[in-house]
Parts: sequence; C-alpha cells; structure tokens
Amino acid sequence: MSTSIIAMGVAGFVVINLVIGLGLLSLGLGAFETLFGKPKLTLLRSTKSGNIFAFGFRWNSAKEPAAIDTIRIRLFNPFGSPTQSEVMKPFEVKKNSFGIEVDMGPGFIELLGAKGFDNAIVQVEVSSTKDGVAFQFDMRGPKFKKLVAAADETVQGFSAKYKLDVKKTSKPPIDIPIRSFIADTVPGHGPSLKLATNPVFAGEFAGAGATGGAAAAGPAVENFAVLKVWIEPGCIVCNACEDIYKEVFEVLADTCIIRPGAPLHDGLKIQESAEACPVEVIKYTKAS
Ligand code: SF4
Repeated sequence: MSTSIIAMGVAGFVVINLVIGLGLLSLGLGAFETLFGKPKLTLLRSTKSGNIFAFGFRWNSAKEPAAIDTIRIRLFNPFGSPTQSEVMKPFEVKKNSFGIEVDMGPGFIELLGAKGFDNAIVQVEVSSTKDGVAFQFDMRGPKFKKLVAAADETVQGFSAKYKLDVKKTSKPPIDIPIRSFIADTVPGHGPSLKLATNPVFAGEFAGAGATGGAAAAGPAVENFAVLKVWIEPGCIVCNACEDIYKEVFEVLADTCIIRPGAPLHDGLKIQESAEACPVEVIKYTKAS
C-alpha cells in the first residue's frame, strides 16, 4: 500500500515538473518571437528634399506573406489642432522586407506642424491593399519627431545592411563567335564547308566577284605543310573538325585531340578545320 502511494507521488511530481517545463519553454519561445520575430519599422534619412518620408520595414514574409503597397501616417491630436490628420501614399508593391523613400505630399509637413503635436499620438501604418493586411506602429508625437530628426541611415545603407533587393546575377552565356559558312558535300569525303581557301571549291569562288573573298578573283590557293597543330582549352565537342579532317582530329567525350602520327601535309584542310571551329581553339603553325 505504502509503495503504491510513493509511486503515485513520484509520478505526480514528474508530471507537474513536465507541465511547468513545457510552460516555461512556451513562454521563452513567445518572448523570443516578441523580441526578434515582430515586424519592425525603421525611420531612415531621406536623400531628397521636400515631403519625403524614408523608412525601412522588415517582417517575416514567409510567415505572413503580403504585397505591401501603402504607407499611411495618422495623427490623433485630441488636445491640439487639427484633432485628426492623415496622409497616405501608395508605392511599388514589396513582397519582402524593404527600404523606401515616399513623397507624402504637402499634408505631411502640415501634419508635423499641427498645434499640440507633443501631446498627440502618431500612428504609422504599412499595409497591403490587395491582401487586406496592415502593420501599425503607434508612438507619441515627440518620439516620432525625434526619430525623424535622428535618422541617419539612408535607404541604400539600410538595404545593404539587411541584404535587401540583391539581384541575382546569372553567368554570361558562352560567347561563340558568329561565323558564316556554306555547308556542302565533297564527293567521297562526306560533309565539308565551302571555303574560298579550300582548293576543292576554287572553281566556285573564282569569278564570284566581291562576295567571294580574297581567293575569289584568283586561282586556287597553294597548299602548305603544317609544322604543328594543337587544341587549346575550350573545345565544346561540336565535331566540326573531325567531320572535316578525321585523320587529324579525334573528338572525345569532353574535348578534341590530335591523333598520334596525324598527317600534316594538307595545311589547307587543317586551316579549314580551324576556321570551322566555333570557339577557335584549333591552332597551328606553318612549316617554313
Ligand atoms: S571544331 Fe573546335 S570545338 Fe568543335 S570539336 Fe573541333 S576543336 Fe572542338
């Protein structure tokens, strides 16, 4: 009997401690949320003159998604004149924390100059007309004026500090030179390119006039031997060189290589391959 009473007492003690512990944890999380998770309004320094109201607004847009597009400043001034005043302006929609300068119009200066302002309450409301969401910040008149006067951070500084409006840059596309060739088939050799430097096409370019290039007006260009041919980094494995001169070029999975013992006597064909390479990585030196 006494053993079961002790066991029940221990169980009760454990349960009570568990409940107290969970309660304290919940309070702690609530306090953390209050201190660090609340929407925040920061008054900023305007870089323009006039009726500009510069401010930053940070909130948890993942938790409270909203298309923020309006700023409203209200004055509740029961002991002064006017007793109530309000200025409101829409701005470009913001879906994440932001900093902005808004021209509130002449009413903003009149609001700040209201009689009895020091006893008034100022309410700044940041809202979304589309989503019906509004965040309100109330403060006494003197505090509002003090914050406006003491603001020394600009919108640019605020945005940089919180990494706002950082545009993602994408890698530039590969720059492949635009080349103009006429593809044709050389009998017995498969597809090839119709170049003025290739003697195979000499007859077609001869007499072609100004459009035929340097070789157009004269006889076929004399062939030459090559001392060395090589591939520089950057091959995009397009196969053009191997299609033209497979005895010299071999295209592998990720680059092109020069075949061991490749013939080097047909310089014009190597030149044609080099000119056909879209990324110009085929290099060669002529034999002297
Ligand atoms: S033509 Fe140029 S890019 Fe194409 S496979 Fe040959 S070396 Fe590579």
